[in-house]
Amino acid sequence: MFYTMSISEGVVQQIKDTINIVDLIEEYLPIKKVGKNYRTNCPFHQDDTPSFYVSPELNIFHCFGCGKSGDIFTFIMEYDKTSFSEALRILANKAGIEIGGFEHKNKILYLIHDFACEFYHKNLLKSPKVLEYLKKRGNTEDTIGKFKLGFAPSGSEFLKEAKKEFKIDDLINSGLVKKTVSGLKDRFFLRLMFPLFSISGQVIGFGGRRLSKGGAKYLNSPDTPIHKKGKNLYSLWHTKEEIRKNESAILVEGYFDFLSLYQEGVKNTAACLGTSLTNEQAELLSRYADEVIIFFDKDAAGRAATLRSLGMLLNLGVTVKIGNTGSRKDPDEIILKGGVEEFKNFLSNASDFIIYTLDRIKEDYDLSSPIGLSKGIERVSIVLSQIRDPLKKELYKEIVSRKLMIREDLLNIEKSTKTSVIANKTIDISDREKIELGLFYAITQKVEEREVVFSIISDEDISNPYLKKAFRLLKKGEEIEIDDIIQSLSKNQIDYLLRESQQPEISALSSALRLKNYLLDNLIDRKRRELQKVEENGGDESMLLKEIKSLIEERVRVSKEVIGEI
Ligand SMILES: [Zn+2]
Repeated sequence: MFYTMSISEGVVQQIKDTINIVDLIEEYLPIKKVGKNYRTNCPFHQDDTPSFYVSPELNIFHCFGCGKSGDIFTFIMEYDKTSFSEALRILANKAGIEIGGFEHKNKILYLIHDFACEFYHKNLLKSPKVLEYLKKRGNTEDTIGKFKLGFAPSGSEFLKEAKKEFKIDDLINSGLVKKTVSGLKDRFFLRLMFPLFSISGQVIGFGGRRLSKGGAKYLNSPDTPIHKKGKNLYSLWHTKEEIRKNESAILVEGYFDFLSLYQEGVKNTAACLGTSLTNEQAELLSRYADEVIIFFDKDAAGRAATLRSLGMLLNLGVTVKIGNTGSRKDPDEIILKGGVEEFKNFLSNASDFIIYTLDRIKEDYDLSSPIGLSKGIERVSIVLSQIRDPLKKELYKEIVSRKLMIREDLLNIEKSTKTSVIANKTIDISDREKIELGLFYAITQKVEEREVVFSIISDEDISNPYLKKAFRLLKKGEEIEIDDIIQSLSKNQIDYLLRESQQPEISALSSALRLKNYLLDNLIDRKRRELQKVEENGGDESMLLKEIKSLIEERVRVSKEVIGEI
């Protein structure tokens, strides 16, 4: 008994060490970065203010609305309504840790993709012509190895090898083999293969680029149980940490744009692999980046895609800039012909999205004619209406009306009611704020301790205006949830509250004492400094001495009284 216990505890820890809670939860919920943490609407209660927080640092989630809290195991148990052992199996499977006796229903598809990835990659390494092609395009051996580029041979060679290992039905389900009138065939042949990785790093499909004449230039894996088109961004798995760190992402169109940039050390990049970003991709990217710089192809399709994509990103509250590629057609060509310095130059000169939009309008319409101008206004109004932050929206409206020399009310923008509630403050919070936050958290949790807290602390003792107001209401007997106040706090304050929420013992009383003592200590300090001045300059010390004495007595009394009342 003891033996099996210790094995499973080891496994639990191993799984916890392997799976980051952010990676896990983002497979289920659209979480968005807020400072160090992530948040979303709580899946466990009716929540229209995002109250559900995920802390990668603490490896926990916590909902300030309903109070649900826990680690990756708790999350799966609550979300998937499973037992602990079932959650253990699910997570062990994700972590790739063997616990025996369990197979994930899609495991075979992942295995087939791993097999295919190796197969195509090895085949590339013995195909000198294809290697030569890649070399000409500037791709190094490192890049080829890191992104497991491959080459699909002709003659259904993959099928021949794979059917020795896997069942035909599973191979068909993987999408890599297809039924045709003349029997089973490889889906991909004579194509350069780009494995598509899931956000947690598993190969889930392929993109194949034509190398000979005939057929579509790009062919992708069909939708399968493990892969949905337009849901992932190419190799975000490789770059998400870099994007998180930079809080900024460079969005490109194609595989080669991505690989060239990555190879040159520009690693906060993702590729959308299509003519436009999908809503799902935009949403995914917004979880990692506060700012996105779009670097699409210079052609008409790229321009149209840029306008569509920037709207989607603005709608998600992301700051958007547009990269200009000058005379080059895409980022790949910039790197190949001008080098990374040229790219960085373009990057630092990226235009604000509104300047970009206005430039396009000037190109596309004759703004000196009423018809041209009205079309231009219509187009820029669409972009303006996508801006989520109301203040930014107003400011941009003003810029546009000035640039187009039109009245602001001609810009037809429907009013957005959404406001960005969390301040973007990143300043550290003071000790006093910490104590106040801790106290507030505790009194919302410990109803039975409220009366004694009110006997020690008055609302004048609280400096944070929101907390002060909430404290007053609580004192009047109104019910205030932590959820009501969280929207008014800064990222760092929320981060602190998350930490508080994980304390094993929460006591409103000791929090109140901490605050009272903190205030008394500060006051005593101040009086002592005053006393020092009086001593230096000469004067009557007796009043100050008396005050200090009574403050010290009060400090002792508060502690005693409270301890006595417990
Ligand atoms: Zn909740």
